[in-house]
Amino acid sequence: MSNSDRTGRPRVVVIGGGFGGVRAAKALGHADVDVTLVDRTNHHLFQPLLYQVATGILSPGLIAPALRRVVKKERNIRTLLAEVVDIDVHGKVVHAATPSADQLDLPYDYLVVAGGATHAYFGHPEWAEHAPGMKSIEDARMLRSQILGAYELAELATDEKEREAYLTFVVVGAGPTGVEITGQLAELAQYVLPKEYRSIDTRQAKIILLDAAPSVLPPFAPKLQRYTQRQLEKMGVEVRLNTAATDMDSEAITVKGPRGEERIIARTKIWAAGVQASPLAAVLAKATGTETDRAGRLAVDPDCSLPGAEGVYAIGDMVTTVDRLPGVAQVAMQQGTYVGKQIANRVKGDHTTPAPFKYFDKGSMATIGARQAVADAMGFKVTGWVAYLLWCYVHIMFLIGWGNRLGTLYNWVRSLRYARNRGHRLISMTGAQEIAERHEAA
Ligand SMILES: Cc1cc2nc3c(=O)[nH]c(=O)nc-3n(C[C@H](O)[C@H](O)[C@H](O)COP(=O)(O)OP(=O)(O)OC[C@H]3O[C@@H](n4cnc5c(N)ncnc54)[C@H](O)[C@@H]3O)c2cc1C
Repeated sequence: MSNSDRTGRPRVVVIGGGFGGVRAAKALGHADVDVTLVDRTNHHLFQPLLYQVATGILSPGLIAPALRRVVKKERNIRTLLAEVVDIDVHGKVVHAATPSADQLDLPYDYLVVAGGATHAYFGHPEWAEHAPGMKSIEDARMLRSQILGAYELAELATDEKEREAYLTFVVVGAGPTGVEITGQLAELAQYVLPKEYRSIDTRQAKIILLDAAPSVLPPFAPKLQRYTQRQLEKMGVEVRLNTAATDMDSEAITVKGPRGEERIIARTKIWAAGVQASPLAAVLAKATGTETDRAGRLAVDPDCSLPGAEGVYAIGDMVTTVDRLPGVAQVAMQQGTYVGKQIANRVKGDHTTPAPFKYFDKGSMATIGARQAVADAMGFKVTGWVAYLLWCYVHIMFLIGWGNRLGTLYNWVRSLRYARNRGHRLISMTGAQEIAERHEAA
């Protein structure tokens, strides 16, 4: 099945409606082209707030507006729900599968690939079953069921050891995502849940954050790393550094660190450690002979184009550049805008070599718990309440849609400032059953 609304204008296919893809498409909103934005989900996901869905602060819809809505004003952009399975860079056709398993062929004149990244389990893909990570709305919902289900099962447990196993949470990876979810696990245990359970004291929950690196938040300044570790420890988190996961099953995780090898009995393990490029990077690498790095990221040219494939660009988490930019939203967004403008110029007949992509680093920030954060921006290193306000402002402004911004703000004020209540803690038997069944199978 071929799907092309031919108007005679150049056709641009954008794969991925994430941070990079949406920016690239929007930059072409006024260009004389027909843009097809294809994604395997129907929404644009604001991944930095996934951990808040996983811990019941936000509802999924607030951080995942429908892609159709996001580009509704750009009349030359259409969105399609389909999963790209192959790219023929010589025939200039994208092959995708529709939800009804039909093949969809999308011919293009220009192609922007922004497929993002997936989890990497350092050669142990079997760990994914025991330590899920967060990349999609489904992941966050599943994690929410696991976390809250663990408390429900602990409340029901009659055996002390079993109760302890349900009340032990291990987060692997102390980068921003690991720190943020750990902070919220501690908030839940210490402030949100204690008065609600009758058989267990949720404050006794053991929350462990481990990383093979010697500090938390590796990319941040040492002062901010030390502050973050101190705050987490004050919240009752056990921070274990220089400690790597060596094995895991549904019952426990085995770690190796300064204390030697140890098996920690924990029913809930969360993966926040490694990422690898979307499989689309390997498809393009094979088709064009482009090199990839250890994480499978494509080594694109300085203008984000792919050597050996005319009119093809790749951006965001699935690429690496000579200056080894970090896999963050800002890089993907700026590359998206840059590539979109470049295509618009080419369509207008400007074929001069563009200036290489240049990243403007606006800084990094991470929350530690409610009201605590660290921010390293524009040369300033800020901690505590001020950093937290800065973090809130930046994240609210980058959400798409005023309704989502106001809804998020309302939930933050309610969950984190005043009532410390979480309005989105819905789970059912299914989530809790899964954890119990896995334990029984073990
Ligand atoms: C939990 C978490 C927290 C994060 N926190 C921060 C943070 O605080 N600050 C920050 O700057 N960055 C953060 N990041 C990183 C940031 O989200 C990424 O750098 C950014 O999303 C990369 O944008 P992208 O466009 O490359 O990919 P994505 O935004 O991941 O978009 C990729 C899109 O491609 C689609 N797709 C993939 N494969 C296919 C296919 N075969 N067919 C069709 N569609 C496909 C996906 O559905 C998705 O919509 C975080 C990431 C995660 C997972």
